[in-house]
Amino acid sequence: MISLGRRLRHARKAKGLTLSALGELCGTAPSQLSLIENGRREPKLSLLKQLAAAVDSTTDELLGSAPPTRRAALEIALERAQRGPLYESLGLPRVRVSSRLPTDVLESLVGLQGELERRMEEQAATPEEARRANTELRAEMRDCNNYYPELEGQAQELLDAVGHRDGPLSHHVAADLADHLGFRLRFVSNLPHSTRSLTDLKNRRIFLTHGGQVEHDPRSVLLQALGHYVLGHQTPRDYSEFLRQRVYTNYFAAALLMPQRQTVDFLQRAKAARQLAIEDLRDAFAVSYESAAHRFTNLATEHLGLTTHFQKVHASGIIHKAYENDGVNFPSDHLGAIEGQTICRSWTSRVVFDVPDKFRAYEQYTDTVAGTFWCTARTERHSAGLFSLSIGVPFEHVRWFRGRDTTERNQSRCPDDSCCRRPPEGLAAAWEGQAWPAARANTHLLAAMPSGAFPGVDETEMYRFLEAHPD
Ligand SMILES: [Zn+2]
Repeated sequence: MISLGRRLRHARKAKGLTLSALGELCGTAPSQLSLIENGRREPKLSLLKQLAAAVDSTTDELLGSAPPTRRAALEIALERAQRGPLYESLGLPRVRVSSRLPTDVLESLVGLQGELERRMEEQAATPEEARRANTELRAEMRDCNNYYPELEGQAQELLDAVGHRDGPLSHHVAADLADHLGFRLRFVSNLPHSTRSLTDLKNRRIFLTHGGQVEHDPRSVLLQALGHYVLGHQTPRDYSEFLRQRVYTNYFAAALLMPQRQTVDFLQRAKAARQLAIEDLRDAFAVSYESAAHRFTNLATEHLGLTTHFQKVHASGIIHKAYENDGVNFPSDHLGAIEGQTICRSWTSRVVFDVPDKFRAYEQYTDTVAGTFWCTARTERHSAGLFSLSIGVPFEHVRWFRGRDTTERNQSRCPDDSCCRRPPEGLAAAWEGQAWPAARANTHLLAAMPSGAFPGVDETEMYRFLEAHPD
């Protein structure tokens, strides 16, 4: 109806007719025509025919779906937007859509409306889209056992080109790689806050920061920047592609820092000696425990015949990253997303936070509903907090690992609520309704739909704390 009115007004103006003049031609009151033009009344077919004839148009044209001009399209768009719930919710006055409204103002209003709608939709869609994308990507990684031969090949080619054969990849070699690819490195102290590196493709420069953020190995940051270039990445079209590119460049950087040939050789010797240990891999290649653990998952299944799982868990118990191809039962939401879920408090990745010995890795056997797993874990402090990094394997693979003789053992009945989601009955009886915590905002940002009365607050911990602090 709005369109018909707009088209009619447009045609009338084009013909140079006033409302009264058109009214006279068709034998209708100008007020009636005004209602029609404003989309408030629909003309009868007979009147529509008269109107069409009077403005040198046809009924088809007036009823057609495509607006006749940019101006008319804008008028229709603004009218629609102002009648929508979003505009209503803003509590702003309505702008009268008349011919006196300058076209640039109209353009601007419609543009702003469109952008606002787009952003609202984006905001609403992002968490779900992100979770979906993460889940898809994890399925892909699982299907290929987190092993990407073409990325291994591209990394090896590059290492061969600069003649790096043995030992950890030094900062010097990393710089050689940049050189070889024709990039100059520029170290600055004012890199944009939201970036770790910035590549200037036009002048072939890579900007890196002076600053010493411990958790971001400067070699990795540089190698990832090179990775986007070597792997031919284009601006990602959506979040899913963004995520995939990030996984591939991280993989590529890891394959440079821990080259396949040497790393597999190292791991195979350790396996033969039944001394597989993530710390040894970390030390041999001078990387972080997280990098070593993650790299282990790339090569374990393909080259060592071991299925495995990896977790990066925040001290609050929330999963930040996880991977498995050994059937371990990670908690997941209705979309299959793992990130943001809370790990069972009996699992190694949680228990390790309470282990006083931070010098050695902590190992534990855990009987779960999906079988018995052995895991080795460490904690590392990052700027976002304290995290546990852990690698686990099903019971039948444990004989190849150092730390298999641990006497630590735990039971997990998760996802059964009574395992660890609900506070023990005695505690709950003593404290239910008597505690009022303020949740730390950051602990539940990632969580999909946290359970319990206070999102992100662990009730068992809260009650235990209260028990331990008697009046
Ligand atoms: Zn549990």
